[in-house]
Order: sequence, then structure tokens, then C-alpha cells
Amino acid sequence: MDRPRFTAAVIGATGTVGQRLVRRLHDHPWFRLTTLAASSRSTGKSYGEAVHWLLSTVLPESVAKMEVCDVQKLDDCAVVFSALGSSTAREIEPRLAQRGLMVVSNASALRMHPRVPLLIPEVNPDHLDMLDHQDFGPGGIVTNPNCSTVGLVLSLKPLADAFGIEAVQVTTLQAISGAGHPGVPSFDILGNTLPLIPGEEEKLETEPQKLLGAIADGVFNPARFSVSAQANRVPVVDGHLVSVSVKLGRGASAEEARSVIEDFRSPVAGLDLPSAPRRPVVAVDDGPRPQPKLDADREDGMTVTIGRIRSCPVFDLRYVALVHNTERGAAGAAVLNAELLAATGKLG
Ligand code: NAP
Repeated sequence: MDRPRFTAAVIGATGTVGQRLVRRLHDHPWFRLTTLAASSRSTGKSYGEAVHWLLSTVLPESVAKMEVCDVQKLDDCAVVFSALGSSTAREIEPRLAQRGLMVVSNASALRMHPRVPLLIPEVNPDHLDMLDHQDFGPGGIVTNPNCSTVGLVLSLKPLADAFGIEAVQVTTLQAISGAGHPGVPSFDILGNTLPLIPGEEEKLETEPQKLLGAIADGVFNPARFSVSAQANRVPVVDGHLVSVSVKLGRGASAEEARSVIEDFRSPVAGLDLPSAPRRPVVAVDDGPRPQPKLDADREDGMTVTIGRIRSCPVFDLRYVALVHNTERGAAGAAVLNAELLAATGKLG
């Protein structure tokens, strides 16, 4: 893009997702990171002092020196990336939109709001049209899905387009980074599995239908299929596995399914969004794959890897998909959404 970079703020900048947003934005070709904000615990400190940096990449010195500001006193900027917890986001994000700011949020608070796009650029870019119907004020709010939902829906999209979907059963094995920092106590999770992640199954059972649904005249029409979800926390650092069985609209063999997954291309590929992977979904078929250790970082964590595609004796198909939960499932998803806003002329 031949224009000055858009100014960007990160709110919740010191958290697990906020740090990944900072990593992605500090040298982004389209955005210029101008503001970092967090809670009163961090306000007034330098980012380097306030943050407990968890990434293996070095915290850039120029960012470490930035002062963390109060969310209520954000400077104007073209886009605000929100990595706030849900209850804080519910209160703060509409206020920022009311002020005229465009908020791109990771939080679950407003994902299912009837006027808020829940967006995956490769799946439902047309849902951005809902911005014209929002009534928060002169700004706007766009959200990205739950971290497991992104993996589930990107894996379902080629199947939905080719065969239709009638029902989905999904079991997740979710990494500990999904719970933020310090998150789950090590004593509870080391050598263990926790078969409950509060709130997670409800998100997996409602967000896919909004994402794979249609939009017409300012109304979302969710796709008509049901999802049964079971969520587990496992002792993995990054990478959520989703183990899926699908009843299709019309039957298909594992080979046909693999072929439509392999052939799937992003509908917005022509926009050359900087964070878009060349392949949003990739099928692998060599044994026990995908694995968090081997596959989560594919294309900078933005590609969902799908393996073990086979027929199902109860439904039609089953497979395992892997999504990098803090990249494609959070920070990378938000940055990609903002890139789509920029490329379609929706950032001031
Ligand atoms: P986190 O590590 O707990 O970080 C929370 C951030 O919010 C911190 O920067 C914290 O600042 C700030 N904060 C807390 N209270 C605040 C307040 N009253 N005003 C302003 N800032 C406040 O959480 P996270 O894991 O990064 O998750 C952030 C959001 O992304 C959540 O909504 C989560 O559900 C969503 N999400 C997370 C993942 C994941 O894989 N982790 C994936 C998808 C979506 P201080 O450091 O100053 O306290």
C-alpha cells in the first residue's frame, strides 16, 4: 500500500495476547504502534518495566521505552487493538467506538452482538458490511473468534462450501497459553488434563454458525447446523488441537475432503494482506500429525493444519486440526482483521 502507516494502539498490551500484538505491530508495514495501554497496575511505567515478557523474541528496545497509558486516556489513532479481558472489554470497547475509534478486539464480550462482525478474512469478509449498521457512534468494533473456534471454522469452511454441514462434534485439547499468564497453576496442569474450561464449549457451539452464516440488510443469518463441544486443558504451551466429526449435507469420501481442503484458497488473497498465510488450511497425511510442537508455527502461526482425515462410522468424516491459539487464535487474527479493514478503506 502506497500511503503512510495507520497509527495503532494496543490495550491490554502487557497480557499474553497483548505481547503478541506488540510483536506483530512494532515493525508492521501498514501500522505504526503509537500507544500502549493496560490496567492501573501498569499505567505510568515504561512498557519494559510493566510487562513480564513471555516471548522468545527479544522485546524491541524502542517499545520497551514506551510509557504505558491509561485506557481511558488513549490518544486518537486509526485503530485500537484490544486484548482486554471480557468484562473490561464489554465496558471499554463501546466507549472507544463512541469516541470515534475503530476497535479490533480479541475479547469474547461483543462477538455475538447482532451488529458486530465476528470475522475471519478467509471465511466471511463480507460480514464487514455490518459496520455500516453499527450504532456505537462514529467508530466501530470488529471481533475475532475464540481461539479454538478459528481452527474449527477454518477447517470446516472448505467442507461447508463443497458439501454443506449438518452437525459437528468437536473435542478440544487446549494449550495453557490460552488461559493467559500466570493462568492455570502448574501443580494443576503438569502431567495432567483438566476436562473443563469454563465458557469455552458455549463459544464453540455458537460462534461457528455466525461465522459460516450469511449477512443481508444489516442482519446476520446464522448457518443452520448444531455443534456439540467438549473442551479440555492439556499441558502444552501453544497450539490447540480440535478433534472433529462432521455430518455433511451430502456424503463425501476422505479423499474428496482432503482434496477440497488442499484446493481451498482465501477469497481475499488478491488484497495481499501482510499477515495472511499463503495457505490458510493445509492437509497433512503422514501418521500422527498435526502436533503442537511440529505444526503450530506453520506460516508464522497463521495456518491451520489438518490431519487424520478419514471416514466416520457415526457421522460422515472425522479429522484433527491444529491452530496456534495466541497467533491465528488471537493476535495474528486481530492484525489480519485490521489489515482487511485497511485494505477495504474502512480505517480513517
Ligand atoms: P491476560 O494475559 O490476563 O492480559 C490481560 C490484559 O488486560 C493485561 O494487559 C492487563 O493489564 C489488562 N487489564 C486488566 N484489567 C484492565 C483494566 N481494568 N483496564 C485496562 N487494562 C486492563 O489475558 P490474555 O490471555 O492476553 O487475553 C486477553 C483477551 O484475549 C481476553 O479477552 C481473552 O479471552 C482473549 N483471547 C485470549 C486468547 C489466548 O490464547 N490467550 C485467545 C483468544 C482470545 P495489567 O498487566 O496492567 O494487569
